[in-house]
Amino acid sequence: MQKTDIAIIGAGTAGMSAAIYAKRAGKNVIIFEGYMPGGQIVVTPEVDNYPALGKVSGYDFAMGLYNQATELGTEMISSEVIKVSRAEGGFNIEYDGGEVFSKALIIATGAKNRKLDVDGEEKLTGYGVSYCATCDGAFYRGKTVAVVGGGNTAFEDAEVLASMCAKVYLIHRREGFRAEPEKVTKVKNLPNVEFILNAKVVALLGGDKVSGVTLEDTLTGEKKDLSLDGVFVAVGQTPSTDIFEGLVKRDKAGYIIAGEDCIAADGVFVAGDCRTKKVRQLVTAAADGSVAALAASEYCSAD
Ligand code: NAP
Repeated sequence: MQKTDIAIIGAGTAGMSAAIYAKRAGKNVIIFEGYMPGGQIVVTPEVDNYPALGKVSGYDFAMGLYNQATELGTEMISSEVIKVSRAEGGFNIEYDGGEVFSKALIIATGAKNRKLDVDGEEKLTGYGVSYCATCDGAFYRGKTVAVVGGGNTAFEDAEVLASMCAKVYLIHRREGFRAEPEKVTKVKNLPNVEFILNAKVVALLGGDKVSGVTLEDTLTGEKKDLSLDGVFVAVGQTPSTDIFEGLVKRDKAGYIIAGEDCIAADGVFVAGDCRTKKVRQLVTAAADGSVAALAASEYCSAD
């Protein structure tokens, strides 16, 4: 079985920052990624809040991290981890293609898109229902679409879509937004964006593809249908932590319980969006990566 000092699960901003710090601390590092390196940031059109970087595309940011981590000698295994179990002196990590033993483990699996959980969503996903405006927006050039949500992602999506669609509705279940006020103002000023507030999507309509949504007014309970060519769901994320059940403690929403020291259990460290914390940003994911990596390196050197 292949052996390493530190195994990192997840190659987003937190995981790759952890790899950079652990390599620089002289450790052998394997990082697992089932999809593609970069995590959520790969599909973010523009990052403009990472200190000192100015404006940079999410893809360039992710590739910068990937190049830095691999040039330092991080080994990347492009395979989904199936099972992690505690073993004598470390952990066994089973993936589709083999098994790795590591002395310490860093969990940096981030979060995946939350669903609306309404009728028609499963059937119409990929047929007019999307969770990524940057990936799928171009299919709706000149069309009428809606973005559902009131956070930063929803507002970024609305801005991207407004640049190519004829009309964009922003549907949100209340009047206040989680998104930064600057983003809200920018989108409010776009001529082809219309806000529909205090409205809940209760059904996605369509046969072979989306034809619209049924909305329910959260104040009056009144229902009405809205015709659309596409629906972009941006209602937040849920953490990808199910495979760590039993190894670490999780809160009700599934986030792994750990403080700013990123310690989740003996030999297990957790970094980024999958950890309990208040602020989930690129800069806090990178910071967690460094904290987790240095703690894991110290843990490995302690024997
Ligand atoms: P978020 O901030 O959690 O916002 C989710 C939004 O969806 C909220 O407005 C929420 O409404 C709404 N929502 C949740 N469940 C819903 C449901 N079942 N039906 C209808 N609406 C629902 O998620 P996010 O926008 O994806 O952002 C995630 C994190 O990444 C945040 O910390 C965000 O700041 C960060 N982020 C940062 C940037 C950036 O800085 N450039 C870009 C994107 C994301 P309520 O408000 O009513 O709960």
